Amino acid sequence: MARDVRTICPYCGVGCGLLASVEGDRLLQLRGDPGHPANLGKLCLKGALAGQTLDVPSRLRLALVRGADGVLAAVSSAQAVAVAAARLARIRDEHGGGAIGFYLSGQLTTESQYLAGKLARGYLRTNHVDSNSRLCMASAATAMKRSLGADGPPVSYADIERADTFLFLGSNAADCHPVTFDRVMRQVKRTGGCALVVDPRRTRTAAAATLHLALRPGTDLALLHAWLKILREEGRLDRDYIARATEGWEALEALLEGISLEETARTCGIEERLLRRSAAMIGDARGLISFWAMGVNQSLRGTVTSCAIINLHLATGHIQRPGSGPFSLTGQPNAMGGRDAGYLSHLLPGSRTIASAAHRREIEALWGLPEGTILAAPGHDTRAMFEALERGELKALWILGTNPAASLPDLSRVRSALRAAELVIVQDAYFPTETTAHAHVVLPAAVNLEQHGTFTNSERRVSLLEPVAPPPGDARPDWWWLREIGLALGAEALRELSSAAAIYDDFARTTAGQANDQSGLSHARLHAEGPLAWPCAAGADPVPLHGDRRFATPTGKARFWATPHEVLAEEESPDGDYPLLLTTGRVANQWHTRTKTGTVARLNRLAPEPYLEMHPDDVAALGLEAGQPVSIRSRRGLAHSVVRPSEDTPAGLCFMPMHWNELWAEGASVNEVTSPEGDPISKQPALKCCAVRVEARPRRG
Ligand code: SF4
Repeated sequence: MARDVRTICPYCGVGCGLLASVEGDRLLQLRGDPGHPANLGKLCLKGALAGQTLDVPSRLRLALVRGADGVLAAVSSAQAVAVAAARLARIRDEHGGGAIGFYLSGQLTTESQYLAGKLARGYLRTNHVDSNSRLCMASAATAMKRSLGADGPPVSYADIERADTFLFLGSNAADCHPVTFDRVMRQVKRTGGCALVVDPRRTRTAAAATLHLALRPGTDLALLHAWLKILREEGRLDRDYIARATEGWEALEALLEGISLEETARTCGIEERLLRRSAAMIGDARGLISFWAMGVNQSLRGTVTSCAIINLHLATGHIQRPGSGPFSLTGQPNAMGGRDAGYLSHLLPGSRTIASAAHRREIEALWGLPEGTILAAPGHDTRAMFEALERGELKALWILGTNPAASLPDLSRVRSALRAAELVIVQDAYFPTETTAHAHVVLPAAVNLEQHGTFTNSERRVSLLEPVAPPPGDARPDWWWLREIGLALGAEALRELSSAAAIYDDFARTTAGQANDQSGLSHARLHAEGPLAWPCAAGADPVPLHGDRRFATPTGKARFWATPHEVLAEEESPDGDYPLLLTTGRVANQWHTRTKTGTVARLNRLAPEPYLEMHPDDVAALGLEAGQPVSIRSRRGLAHSVVRPSEDTPAGLCFMPMHWNELWAEGASVNEVTSPEGDPISKQPALKCCAVRVEARPRRG
C-alpha cells in the first residue's frame, strides 16, 4: 500500500517541498507538495527527477581507506571510524586541534552542520570550520547582518503575490531558481507589473524581462547609487521611514550628492535614459522585491553591493511591509540552516560570533563546557584554510558533502593543498568525485531523500525531511559519521545526540532569544504542522517580519552603508595578454559539479556537455568557429572547452558553466582559471570575473 512522505528537493535554495509516493522501501514517484509555501506544488525538472539520483552506479555503498599501496580499498564502517579517529587523534595530540579543519556544505542537514561545529569547536578545539556557502552567499549574509542586524531576508515567497515590481540583480533565476522565477512572472502578468533584470548577459531571465539592463560587469554598485540619486531628486523616497527606522542616511545622501548620472551611465555602459527609465519603474512600485544571487555575491564588491540593494529598500520604505523586501536567493537547499548552525569560520550557532566573548560563554554554557573551551580567534575562511593546508599548518581536512577540488577557484593551488595534507577525510554519497582522488578515508553518506533532518530555505522556512528510501549499503547520514568518530575521540557528550531529532533540539536551544529563534520548533512539530519560518520562539507561532519591528541592531534601527563605486586594485581588467573577461555560472539542467544531476539521463540529454559562450564578433576576430576546441588561459592556469557563439553574451565577455570538471575531461573545469581573490569583507571569492586569453586547439580525430 503506497503512502505519501514529505521531503525537500536536494538542489537550490527555493527549497521546494516534495511529496514522495512510497511503498515499503520503494520510492514510486516524486511530485511537488501543494502544501509547501515555497512551491505550492510546482517543481522544475531537476527536482521532479531527483528520485533518479538514488540508486545509481556511482552511489558510494562502502567506506574506503587508502592503503600503503596508495589505493582506496573497501573496509567496514567500524574500521573506517577507527582509522579516521586514530589519525585525527594523533594529529590533535601532536599539533593541537587547530591543525584540523572542517569544510562543510549547504547540502547537509542542519543537524549535520550543527554537530560538525559542536565537535570541532567544543571538543577538538578548532575554529577552522567553513563551508561552501563561502562561495555562494557569504556576501549577502554579511550585508544582511551589517544592514539589518540579522542574517535572513525579511521577506517570504508569499510576498510575491503581493508585489508588482521585481528586480533581479546578478541572478539568472529562470535557470537557477525556476520555480520562484515562474511564480514572479505569473504575478507580473497578473498585475501588469514589471520585472527589471540587471545582468551583463542576456540570460533567459533577462530575455523575459520588462527591461534588461546589460550593464558592464562589476558596476552594479554604481547603478544602485544612481537609482537612489534619481529617486531622491524626484522626491520618491520614504522620508518618514528613513527618519523612523534607519540610521546613517546623511552619509549616503552626501555620497549621492557627488554622483554624476552621465558618468554613471558611462561606467555601467548603459544609456542615461535607461537609468532614468529603470529608476522610474522602482519609483512606481507598489510592492518591490529585489532578488540577488551569485552575480552580486561572487564579486570583489559583493558585500557593499548587497548593502546597496538593502539601502534601496530602506530609502524607499519597501521593507517591513507585505509585498516588499530585499530577497537574497541561495544556491543550495540548506545554506540558511548552515548559517543558523554557525558553519562559517566566524560564527557560532544562533546568530552568534566567535569574536564575542559573551557569545562564546553562552555556547559553552549551553554545551556544558568549561569557560574558555572555545578558542577566541575566528577560524580560517575557505581560502585561508586551503592556504594553511598547503603551508602544512593545517594537517587534516574533513570534507562533508562538497567537492572543493572542482568548485574552488584556482584549482591547481587547491590540488596542491590537498596533496600536502596528512589526512583528508571525505564524506560523500557519490564516488568518485574530483575530491575523493585526494582522500585517505572516504565515508559513504546518505542523501537527504534517505534521512530525517531539516533544511531551511531562502525565506527562513524550516522543513522536515523524512526518508523516502533507505540509504544503500553502509551509507549513513553525515551526522552519524560525525558522532561515531567524535565518540571514538572521547567526545562523550555526543552520545545522547543519537538521532536527528535530538540533535535538532540541541541546536534549537542555542537559538532561544536570538534573531533566528527556532526554540519553538522540533521534528515533532514540523511533522505535525508542516514547514514553519523562524523566528519561532518556544510556545509561540512564527512571526511575520512585517510592521515596524525593531531591527536586530544595537539601536534597533536598520543601517545605511555609503560606499562609493571605485575601481579596485585586485580587479582583473582585460589587457593585451588577456583581452577577454570570463564569467562563470550555472545552466538549468545541471547542478554544481554534477555528482547528482550527471546521473540522470534526461538532464544529460538537455545539458550534455561543457562550452565556452562567446559573442560571434569575438569568435570571428579570433578566427574561431562554432564547435572549435579552445584553450582558455588566465594568469593562474589553463582550461579547455568548445566554442559556442551567441549574441546573448556581449563582445569582450565570455561565459563558461561551472558544472563540468576534471572527471569529465582533463582541464574541463572553469576553476582552472578563476581567481581566488575575493570580497575583503565577506571573503567570498570573486568567481564571476577574470581576464583570459582564448586560443584555438586542434580538433581531435
Ligand atoms: Fe528543486 Fe530549486 Fe527546482 Fe525547486 S526550483 S525543484 S528547489 S531545483
